[in-house]
Amino acid sequence: MTIEQKIKTIRKELQEHNYNYYVLDKPTISDYEFDMKLKALQDLEEKHPEFYDPSSPTLRVGGLVTKNFETIAHEHRMYSLDNSYSKEDLEDWEKRIQRILGDVPVEFVCELKYDGASINLTYENGQLARAVTRGDGFQGDDVTTNIKTIGSVPLKLRGDYPSKFDIRGEIILTLEGFAKMNQERIENGEEPYMNPRNTASGSLKLQDSALVAQRPLDCLLYSIVGASGLKTQFEVLEKARAWGFKVPPVAKLCKTTDEVLRFVEYWDVHRHELPYETDGVVIKINSLLQQEELGHTAKAPRWAMAYKFKAEQEATILNEITYQVGRTGAITPVANLQPVLLAGTTVKRASLHNADQIAKLDIREGDTVFVEKGGEIIPKIIAVDLTKRPLGLTPTRYITHCPECGTELIRKEGEAQHFCPNDTGCPPQITGRIQHFISRKAMDIEGLGGETVELLFKEGLIDNYADLYMLTVDQIIPLERMAEKSAENLVNGVEASKKIPFERVLFALGIRYVGETVAKKLAKAYKNIDALMAASEEELTAVDEIGERIAQSVVQFFQNQTNLETVNRLKTYGLQFSLSEEQLQHQSDLLKGKTFVVSGVFETIGRSELKKLIEDNGGKVASSISSKTSYVVAGANMGPSKKTKAEGLGVPIISEQDFLGMIS
Ligand code: AMP
Ligand code: ZN
Repeated sequence: MTIEQKIKTIRKELQEHNYNYYVLDKPTISDYEFDMKLKALQDLEEKHPEFYDPSSPTLRVGGLVTKNFETIAHEHRMYSLDNSYSKEDLEDWEKRIQRILGDVPVEFVCELKYDGASINLTYENGQLARAVTRGDGFQGDDVTTNIKTIGSVPLKLRGDYPSKFDIRGEIILTLEGFAKMNQERIENGEEPYMNPRNTASGSLKLQDSALVAQRPLDCLLYSIVGASGLKTQFEVLEKARAWGFKVPPVAKLCKTTDEVLRFVEYWDVHRHELPYETDGVVIKINSLLQQEELGHTAKAPRWAMAYKFKAEQEATILNEITYQVGRTGAITPVANLQPVLLAGTTVKRASLHNADQIAKLDIREGDTVFVEKGGEIIPKIIAVDLTKRPLGLTPTRYITHCPECGTELIRKEGEAQHFCPNDTGCPPQITGRIQHFISRKAMDIEGLGGETVELLFKEGLIDNYADLYMLTVDQIIPLERMAEKSAENLVNGVEASKKIPFERVLFALGIRYVGETVAKKLAKAYKNIDALMAASEEELTAVDEIGERIAQSVVQFFQNQTNLETVNRLKTYGLQFSLSEEQLQHQSDLLKGKTFVVSGVFETIGRSELKKLIEDNGGKVASSISSKTSYVVAGANMGPSKKTKAEGLGVPIISEQDFLGMIS
């Protein structure tokens, strides 16, 4: 087999696995095997850029950065939908339609209204050519690079597809994916996102497609425009499915508005069993010929109608406001409610966000409040029913001291949240940090879970994560629910964690704003903890993607005496505090202090490989040319504006050969 055939075979294979996994949800190989094949393909593609393919599965990993999203006019306008809220609304709509069409039979297709960001995908000769956001309906942003990272968007089609067409759908985050993302953000000391819909739509406009690739986005398709030969909307859905798109099976052909209403009523209740959010049903006239005849108003098609579900709201009594303390000391007020059935689940608690929110609603213990479960997973309180307020309820006074340790709370300028500053003595902060330390993406300590951490802390066996390394089997066995076997597992798990690589140890330390990616960057830039500890705020901000907020937090962390002691102890226990020999092998200081901008297409190495070479040799990669740029490495098709700018600033422009010469 030639190299080209080999590359093509792996691409085809991966494309199949991708389809099985993301569209059918029926993987036939393990994630590990998939990753291995993908890695093999990446290696081959790096070595043979001549076989570049804009539909290669390797593009799913992302890595390309879009500075400015280009505005593109839609070939077919993207309309909104008219809304209806009742049986009468629907019947009126049917009458209007019959008046235009004459008394001919009509059929309806009912689909769910997926709540996310709409997207228009253009396919040419079976390949994804362009993905454009809805924008104002006439024109939107070209987000193709980002969309290519979404697993359920086919880069190549299957079956007998038309040579060119547009297909429309909704980019969504599943509830599970959204919850997982937020969990990770909380672990990284970041604010969680408010709801899946805004997060999905914000994701499309991230500049770094590698970040988009990390988000569990999904794409659900619902209409095709510009393809000839199709006769009905129902057929559209079936065809789209056959060509490899993800089209939810929940779609029903109905002959009467009564049938439509039954569909609406059913899904109004059962939508809470779906893995994603819906905010209604979309009803469409099935015949595409009839659709054409009906046409559009200025805003929406006459042949479609959205039926909006009522956001579920219930009134209940607010019994008590309590306050939770997180790992970073952030205080979250929680409303403890008289249990109430809402959107299919019993709701007992709702988030009150922060002091301002409580003041704004003038919410008091004993009030009757309206709880809503709409876009957010966590129910929220939207209003107080003042007519039901008993006489003499005292206004809520936000706590001034930590409910867990009694320390006076602080609130920084411009921040919404109050904090307990007692980071070394406040129990939930202590256990929270240890729980973060042992978590899967950090030290991944087998045999130890969050509850055991609390138990060990309560029993006085651990006070910080360094103490974990002193635990003995004999100490653990006497604890509740601890058999000899589990005690041994725990100690072995702790021992095994000493092999966890430096970047993960750095993440595990729980420095505020140092998430997984930042930890990787820092580990790579500084190579060992001593160098990192010696770095000033200024030096830190010179590292690619490290901003002031992170730099400040890192410096503060290592200025703290307790943290220094803990790190020193961890060092003596033998944890990894520098990059491994293998990681260092490919590294040098040859480009130290030099900043590069990479522009254009290269012959012998890929762009990402080039950037990696710069960083591995101690250089910095910047995305735009400034007076601080040392060199621009230019390939073919370097942007003319970049060229003028470099020349204007007197920044030398070098070729890839010049560059390779610098590091050889
Ligand atoms: P609105 O933004 O409320 O006017 O609703 C119109 C939007 O609903 C469209 O732009 C689509 O993005 C979205 N939508 C979600 N699901 C569907 C569906 N099954 N059919 C048509 N549009 C849908
Ligand atoms: Zn406290």
